[in-house]
Amino acid sequence: MAKLKDLEDYQEEINQCVKCGACRAHCPVFAAEKREGRVARGKVALCQALLTGDVKAEGKVLEDLSQCLLCGSCEAQCPNKVPTDEIVAAARRRIVEERGLTTVGTAVAALLSRPRLMNLAAKTSGALSNLLFKKIPEKSGLHLRFPAPYLEEGRTLPPLTAKPFRERVPEVIPGDPGRPTVAFFTGCGINYMYPEIGEALLKVLKFIGVTVIIPKDQVCCGLPAVSAGAGATVEALAAENLRALSRTPVDQIVTACASCSAGLGKIHPQMGEEYVVQGKKCIDIFVFLVQQGLAEKLAALPKAAKQTKVTWHDPCHLRTRGITKEPRQILASLPQVDFVEMAGAASCCGLGGTYSVYHYQHSKKIGAKKAANVKASGAALVATDCPGCIMQLQDSINHLGEQARAVHLLELVVAALPEE
Ligand code: SF4
Ligand code: SF4
Repeated sequence: MAKLKDLEDYQEEINQCVKCGACRAHCPVFAAEKREGRVARGKVALCQALLTGDVKAEGKVLEDLSQCLLCGSCEAQCPNKVPTDEIVAAARRRIVEERGLTTVGTAVAALLSRPRLMNLAAKTSGALSNLLFKKIPEKSGLHLRFPAPYLEEGRTLPPLTAKPFRERVPEVIPGDPGRPTVAFFTGCGINYMYPEIGEALLKVLKFIGVTVIIPKDQVCCGLPAVSAGAGATVEALAAENLRALSRTPVDQIVTACASCSAGLGKIHPQMGEEYVVQGKKCIDIFVFLVQQGLAEKLAALPKAAKQTKVTWHDPCHLRTRGITKEPRQILASLPQVDFVEMAGAASCCGLGGTYSVYHYQHSKKIGAKKAANVKASGAALVATDCPGCIMQLQDSINHLGEQARAVHLLELVVAALPEE
């Protein structure tokens, strides 16, 4: 099976860190903690020391390496483009090889690598949601009724669905002749927590006549396993997705989740040519919609009488790969939206996969800044393009005691489309 890169494979990139410190200003963890071990150059130095054997994978070393959101913000600003997120992820895999998975890592790997178990767990939680959760203000999420391991009381969670998205829709939805055919890589967030985002995507693609294939046997992109250092799980999931997505020829593979887009477009391509080809086919939904001329179509619609103030949050996994313009273009063209930029739109929301499970207090601190920026913008809605960000943004907004809601931009696009 194709393998992800080892820590040794990053020696050249590690050597390129000149310790200039330019990354300090852009690391959300350093901004919250102000400790050198938290910033990219500190982590790169630790990884070098792990390679030479100058430090052992224990104690403070493990703590410092766990304090990374793998957001890639440092690489985007680094003069030498040192990929700290990839280096830290490789170090975590090496640590897991030496010491085994943590409790959370074991649970993540077990669930992700057994899609049937994951389906069952999601459906059971969905069916029992009234028992397990209590509703907090309408559409703002749920709170657990009692504390659970690694889930702090008061944390807002989205409801799990009793009927996952991929079970609600046919595998092929034909579009108009002569229009593109795309595969939809749904990801787990849409499949299990926010099926309405998947339904919105199908309505928008139907509006522009695109044929959609939703392979039933696709699995998780593996990002939570990347964060947990579960390398073998990531590799197995990537191989399954390669099989599922290459069965039927398509023009592109669309994603409506920034993390899935980074999984297929940035992380899996480390594993060889087939994955590079697949990564090049993978396209974020808003880049695709802009290419298909949807922004112009939306801008031509009559302005709505009631305008809603909406701001935009850049998911790190899109922003660090240069995707910032297209979602704004779509947002600004919506007839019912008064688009306002917020300060710090490009800063991380603080989720970071398993980071927010291990370090919820730090994650909350990072999220609090974002929620304050949403409040200062005066927006009633903060739109984004990542189920994980939606979950974290809503949690942060709720902690601030605000009424704003986090939504996926596709939900706003669907609301603007003319009635069929
Ligand atoms: S990671 Fe990049 S920005 Fe940070 S200290 Fe090293 S070279 Fe400078
Ligand atoms: S990947 Fe993100 S959290 Fe990790 S060191 Fe870089 S900027 Fe900081």
